[in-house]
Amino acid sequence: MEPIHESKSLSISCPICRSKKIIKLPTSIVDKSKQLTTISIPKGKICKHHFQVFIDKNFIIRGFQKVDYELKEIQSTKQKLQNHKEMTLKEIYDEFWEYISDDNEAFREFISKDIRRKKNLNDDEIHNPYGTDFIPHVCKNLE
Ligand SMILES: [Zn+2]
Repeated sequence: MEPIHESKSLSISCPICRSKKIIKLPTSIVDKSKQLTTISIPKGKICKHHFQVFIDKNFIIRGFQKVDYELKEIQSTKQKLQNHKEMTLKEIYDEFWEYISDDNEAFREFISKDIRRKKNLNDDEIHNPYGTDFIPHVCKNLE
């Protein structure tokens, strides 16, 4: 079993503007049960774009996907992975939750309890100008 604090450096380039940056990711965020793991690159990490990277179990980049709409601009406060100490899964999650997709099996427990993710959803409801359209229309005059 690999130590969970092990990390890999990936050279990721933006599919939109081609900006390139080395991003260090813990190996444990790769979902071993799936062929591909989706890594979400938030706005401001590499460039001004938000996109997703698909990587396989060997940390080979297999594809990109542009994200056209972002619920909320994620603020990047943490700059780099602290390599000198062992991190628990929880700590890795806290550090890298922005990158971890909602359906990542390894972090499912944290994802389901993560108020930051839920907050994004709530913000979306508040800021969504079409929000009221989702309320089912009840036709009272139907005979
Ligand atoms: Zn870009």
